[in-house]
Amino acid sequence: MKIYMEKIYRKSKKEYFEHLKKRIEQEKRTFIVTANPEILMIGEQDKEFNNILKEQDVEIVADGIGVVKGAKLFGIEIPERITGVELSQELIKYCNENNKSMYLFGAKPEVIEKMKDKFKQEYPNIRLLGAENGYVKDKQKVMEEIAKTNADVILIALGVPLQEKLIYKNLEKFNKGILIGVGGSFDVISNSVKRAPKIFIKLNLEWLYRIAFSPARWKRFYEGNIKYIFKLKKEVKKEKEKGRK
Ligand code: UDP
Repeated sequence: MKIYMEKIYRKSKKEYFEHLKKRIEQEKRTFIVTANPEILMIGEQDKEFNNILKEQDVEIVADGIGVVKGAKLFGIEIPERITGVELSQELIKYCNENNKSMYLFGAKPEVIEKMKDKFKQEYPNIRLLGAENGYVKDKQKVMEEIAKTNADVILIALGVPLQEKLIYKNLEKFNKGILIGVGGSFDVISNSVKRAPKIFIKLNLEWLYRIAFSPARWKRFYEGNIKYIFKLKKEVKKEKEKGRK
C-alpha cells in the first residue's frame, strides 16, 4: 500500500487541473488512475494491475476519502480527493473553451447517446472525434481506432480494472492525449444515475448511499473497504516495528 500511497498526487485539485491543462497544451501523453481503496486492493492482488500502479508514467490521484485517510497513516498528506467525475467535468469544460478534441468510450448505448446530445447542446466547441458504448465485442479494436484519432482527451468508462488494463496495454499507440478510466462517470454526467442526496456528499458518505441500494456492490465493498482497512493496519504496524529496530 505504501508504495502506491507515495505515488499519489499531493497538491490541490486546482493545481492538478492546471497541470493537466498544461499537458494538453504541450501535447504530452498522460495516463491517470483515479484510485479508491478498491483499486489499491486490486493492485495488491493482481500482478498486472500492480505494475500499472507502480509504473513511473502513470499518475495516480486519490478518488476516495479512504485513500486520503489511508495515506495519512503512513504520514503522507493528501489535501483533498480528486474524483473521476470531477476530472471528466473539468476536462470537458476546458476542451469546450479551447476547441479541443475528445473521444468517449464506455457505458451503455443509451448513456453514450445522452452524452452525445449533451455535448451538442452544452459543449458545441468540443470536436468529438468519436463516442462508442462500452458493450461492443471488440474493445481492443476501439482502442486502436481511438489512438488513430489523436484526440486531446480520451475518457474510458468501462469500469475497474478493465479500463486501466486496456489503456495500459495500448498506451504506446498514443502519441498524445489525456487518458483516464472514469468508471461510472458518464452515467453521472448524463444524469442516468442520480448522485446521492447532498447531505451524503457533504458527509463523504455518497459511497454508503450507493452501496446500500445496490446488492451487487456489497462484495466489492467488503473487498475494497473491510479488507483494505485490515491490510492498511497490518502494514502500518509492520512499518512501526521496522522503525523501532
Ligand atoms: N461498463 C461498460 N462495459 C462493460 C462493463 C461496464 O461500458 O462491459 C460501464 C458501465 O455501464 C458503467 C461503468 O462501466 O457505466 C462502470 O461503472 P461503475 O460505477 O461500476 O464504475 P467503477 O466503480 O468501476 O468506477
